This record gives sequence, C-alpha cells and structure tokens, in this order.
Amino acid sequence: MNTIKTKNILPESVNTPSRFRNPIGKYLVKRNSRCAACGLCAELCPYGVHIKPEGYSRPLPPRSHLCIGTACAGNDFYCVKRCPNQALSVNLNPTLQALGDYRWTPEMLIGHWHMAETGELPRVDLEYSLGSSGGGFDKMRFRIPDAADYLDINDEDIDTSLNLNRRGDGRPQKVLSLPCYGGGMSFGSTALPVIVGRARAATRLNTMTCTGEGGYPPEFLPYAEHVVTQVATGLFGVREETIQNAPVVEFKYAQGAKPGLGGHLLGDKVTPEVAAIRETVVGSSLFSPFPFHSVYSVEDHKKHVDWIKEINPRALVSIKVSTPSDADMVAVGSYYAGAHIIHFDGSYGGTGAAPDIAKKNIAMPIEYAIPRIHRFLKEEGIRDQVCLMASGGIRNAMDAAKAIALGADGVVIGTADLVALDCIRCGKCESGRGCARGIASTDPELGYMINEEYAEQRIVNMYLAWRKQWCQLLRQYGLRSMKELVGRSDLLVNMDYLDEAERSKYPEAPKNKLVI
Ligand code: SF4
Ligand code: SF4
Repeated sequence: MNTIKTKNILPESVNTPSRFRNPIGKYLVKRNSRCAACGLCAELCPYGVHIKPEGYSRPLPPRSHLCIGTACAGNDFYCVKRCPNQALSVNLNPTLQALGDYRWTPEMLIGHWHMAETGELPRVDLEYSLGSSGGGFDKMRFRIPDAADYLDINDEDIDTSLNLNRRGDGRPQKVLSLPCYGGGMSFGSTALPVIVGRARAATRLNTMTCTGEGGYPPEFLPYAEHVVTQVATGLFGVREETIQNAPVVEFKYAQGAKPGLGGHLLGDKVTPEVAAIRETVVGSSLFSPFPFHSVYSVEDHKKHVDWIKEINPRALVSIKVSTPSDADMVAVGSYYAGAHIIHFDGSYGGTGAAPDIAKKNIAMPIEYAIPRIHRFLKEEGIRDQVCLMASGGIRNAMDAAKAIALGADGVVIGTADLVALDCIRCGKCESGRGCARGIASTDPELGYMINEEYAEQRIVNMYLAWRKQWCQLLRQYGLRSMKELVGRSDLLVNMDYLDEAERSKYPEAPKNKLVI
C-alpha cells in the first residue's frame, strides 16, 4: 500500500480575514463616548482587537471577533479593566441567538470561520466539535485516553493519507493527503468562483472535489487531477471528454439528504452560463429524476461501471448511494460490480437546497450505517479491497474522526467548505439566485462578492486546522496513522449508555436555545 510523507505535500496556511467588514464573533466589544483616544487598549491587546493605526487620532472600531471574551478577565492586559475612562465593555454577542441551527450551532460556525481565517484551532472558548442536535455524532465522544498511550511525535510524522484504490486491479494508486475530499456541488447550485476555489484548494491539499451534476466548466481543467466527475440521472454536461478528464468518476444513485427525490435546480438559477455548461435551456428548471431507470440489478449496475472503465482506462469508479436499510448488501454488490470507492451518504447532510422533511426523516443516519457496512464487508472478506467513504452531516474534524473510528476509511465534506466561505446556514440555498453571501448563487452581481483565491485559501486553512485536531487525537491514543483509527469503535462512547458519574467526565453538548 502506498503511504506518503504528508509534510512534503501540505501547503502553508495564509491569514485570510473574512471578506465582510464586521465578522461575527462570540463576543461583542463596545467602546463608548467616554473614550479619550489614548490608544492604551491598542498597545495592550495581544489579539489585535483594538487597533490605532499610525497617524489616526482615534482607534478603529473594535474587531470583536478576535476577542477571547470572559477568559481575558484574569489577564493584566484586560482592556476593560485597564481603560482609564471605563470606556470599554465585553459581552456575549446577541447575534448568536439568531445564528445557525441545532446541528451547526453559532459557536461551531464561528469556530470554523476562525479556522478558515487563520489555519489554527480557535483559542476563544468555542464549542466547535459538538452541536446541540441531541443525537448522532453529538451523542458520541472519544473515550478518555490513557495517559500511558500518548505518543510524543510531531504532526509531520503522523500519516493522514487515504488510498482510494485498494483493488489492486492495475488502475492508478490515488493517494490523498487527508482522509477526506469535497462532495458534489454543481455549477448552478453554487457560484463558479466557489467551485473553482474548491478545486484549487483540493489541488493544494492533494485531495479532491467533485463537479456534482453541473457539468464540467473549462475552469476546472488546470485542476483536473483533483476533480471528480459526477454522473447522475440528469446526465447534465456528461460527455466522453469530461469522463476522460477525471481521475475518479462518481455515479450518484442517490443523496442521503433527499433519497427518492432526485435533484432540482430552480429555473432562476439557470443563467446562460449554467445552461451552456449543462447543455440545456436558460431559465428552465432542471430535474434529475430518481432513480437511474437503466439500473435495477447488480448486473445493470456493473454495466454502468464497465462503461466508465471502458471510456477512461485510468479512472477509479466511485458509487454514491444513500443509506437504505440494506446498505450492507448494496456495498457488497457495488464491490462485485467493480467499484473502487463505495460512498454512503446518510441523512442530516445537504445544504439548504434539500427539503427539511427529507433531510431529517428518510435515509438511515450515517453513524448507524457505517459500522454495519464495515462489519459486513469484513465478513465477506473484501473490506481491504474497497475504500469506504461516508458523508451526510459530517460537520467538523471530530465528526470525521468518529466516522472513521466507526469503520469508514474517509469522509466526504460539503457544507463545511461553504462555512469556510462565510456561509451563515440561513438555509436559503435553493432560493433563486438569492444567497446573501454570494455562495449558493449564480447572480452575476452576488458573484462579485467572492473570488477563487479567497475561496481556495479559506478552505485550505480550514483543513489544515482540521488536520491539527486529528493529529492531537491520534497522539492521545498512541496512533501514528489515520488508517489505524479505522474501525476502532472501542475508542468511542455513547453518552446514552454511560451512568451519571461516567457521563460527567465528558464535555456536555451545548444546550443552545435558538430563536429560529
Ligand atoms: S484604553 Fe479606553 S480611552 Fe484609551 S483608546 Fe482604548 S477605549 Fe479609548
Ligand atoms: S449563506 Fe448561502 S450557502 Fe449558506 S445557507 Fe445561506 S443561502 Fe445557503
């Protein structure tokens, strides 16, 4: 099996502040009219909250999102105490009450914005690994590690790579530097700079991103070795050359966020550019039917896989399915049909473009599906010949690690990439061209709000921070490689099955009372 020295491949983080003038933070720092503009706070604060540029008569408005809040009260540089005129106050930001949702809590959003800005894990007291959904990964914790297991090695010596081709069938070994890649997001559902920025980030991180069912804009070509081509039921923009461009071709049979419903791009988003790439009509709503009406058996499925393999002899084939009750049988069938990657997409996932009733109520939660599939593949004796990917509500580095400990080889990420680009989880992704952040939009004016360079670096930074968190975790359990974590469900506990005394040793999930 190929392993890699990730230290040779991983890029540097570059500080990339939010493109919006007033980034949202957990705390709000206010300076009132008693301020005499002495500049002491700017000299004192090591986090850059207060700035008084050379030649300015007054400090700039406080950059509240950098403030560490109440944790600063014990420091001798705490500006609130030191201000000679008592002109400063630090309080919880009331905006938090209207931000995010139970899965992506305000603190998780703010934590990820910080990672995307700096490439570092937040130092502000934010709970960015657990949501308040009351279920799924929010109920799981890694068990308290034994201090004797701790492995004192550097991040560079920890292997977080992922091998996508384990079949040994003569097709290329495709080894990624991180145990994750970007899920399908189409041109049309999202703005062009967003998807090209994702492809550029994937190239720098040596991972991959996926076209979704939006065709293959020519802007992807310089990054083709890191772009998965998706073939879904609408076949929008699928041509021989787009399949030949791809190192991995993904058949999307279903999405966990909306199994049985197919895809739907509203006509308002079908601009002339989107229509040209998708070879369709401007302003006309586009439906991807469910299912592939040419596939009703494993034999039909194999014909699909063979078709791709014939057109592109170097492509690896990925099968993306939702999590039906017979997910384990589907996995085995896909392996025998010739798939290299079996990608299960559980419920909970999806951007705001999937209807809530489908997102929360249809497919099997991914944390139930993974161990079942992992075990079944082992019993069949084929677990080591296939790469098992999981997605559907994997929000952060710890969710990813939990999915891997349950038995996945890696995870596929969608929403977190958008959060890195300042998504506020307002859930309006499907509403015409209207994403307020210019992300899930094809409106040319909103598209000016974001550029590829920004998208690339923010996503790179976020994954570099995730990697730091994975390395911290692996060291605690004496593991040198993410592969050693696969299937280690013995390292996990479920809060529901612990007695009160035991449960109190673990961090509680946040209990946010959200307004929305
Ligand atoms: S220390 Fe107080 S008075 Fe001086 S600039 Fe800061 S807020 Fe104004
Ligand atoms: S900010 Fe944009 S991408 Fe994020 S949920 Fe809202 S509409 Fe969707």
